[in-house]
Amino acid sequence: MIIDGKKIAEQLREKVKNNIDKISGSQKPGLTVILIGDHPASQIYVRNKEKFAKEVGINSEVLRFDKNITEQNLKDEIRKLNTNPNVHGILVQLPLPDHINQKDIIETIDPTKDVDGFHPVNVGNLSSGNDAMVPCTPLGCYYLIKQVLPNLSGLHAVVIGRSNINGKPMTQLLLKENCTVTIVHSKTKNIEEICKRADLIIAAVGKAKMVKKDWVKSDAVVIDVGINRLEVEGKNKIVGDVDFENLKDHVKGITPVPGGVGPMTIACLLENTLKAFNKISGNAPR
Ligand code: NAP
Repeated sequence: MIIDGKKIAEQLREKVKNNIDKISGSQKPGLTVILIGDHPASQIYVRNKEKFAKEVGINSEVLRFDKNITEQNLKDEIRKLNTNPNVHGILVQLPLPDHINQKDIIETIDPTKDVDGFHPVNVGNLSSGNDAMVPCTPLGCYYLIKQVLPNLSGLHAVVIGRSNINGKPMTQLLLKENCTVTIVHSKTKNIEEICKRADLIIAAVGKAKMVKKDWVKSDAVVIDVGINRLEVEGKNKIVGDVDFENLKDHVKGITPVPGGVGPMTIACLLENTLKAFNKISGNAPR
């Protein structure tokens, strides 16, 4: 089964839109994205975020700053957004220029408005099993997994990659669902053997087609987070971390790239913005 992330993301956006339509009063959720410099991929992501935010009824704005903005000025801009009652979600598009300390910038964002879920308060709450703003990509993966495996209890999940934005929060979400989780990374020995024992594999590495057919059990579910650009016969092609063509007829469920995890990431950002709005306006516990 190919897990259709595009369709599931569309359903999630529809759900967010319906909930926003039901908000009484004139105030709607507001999302501000901060974009620094002219990183081409970031420009595309931000444009898509803006488009989908508008579609679901979120007031979205993008603040664009020159790549030479000082860290102090950037923090001042974030603090203004923290106290702006019309802004419920703040997202600083990464990566940042080298002269800006990413950790300090993330920590400047009000955790309630941290729709990326990268602030240490949200990271801590997620790992303590408390309510948290969950990073959008692993949250999107979680929703995709639940489509094929509604009950994860007791399953063995292998998460490949231990980044703060993907692997680690993914692990926390799976632990909360009573999975037995193995997290593997670039220093892990025998990844192939570990994967062979997995009921569920989440690959978030950044290595084209790394996960091969003979690494995966035939009843496993495979979620591919990777986005890798390959040149095939003179053309640019986007592929995941999984050898999709050889795996798609072998496994119980698999996400394609593109059209799998990617669309879910933006849909989850919209959902997180609505969640922040509900908390700030008193519709949900803070
Ligand atoms: P990252 O920060 O570079 O982390 C990659 C992880 O993979 C690290 O933990 C690294 O191990 C591990 N790794 C590297 N080579 C490995 C190998 N040969 N075997 C096993 N593990 C290995 O990457 P990221 O930000 O998590 O992103 C991962 C991928 O997801 C990228 O392709 C990125 O473009 C994509 N992505 C997609 C979305 C989406 O919306 N679909 C969102 C974000 C990212 P060490 O920790 O030991 O270095």
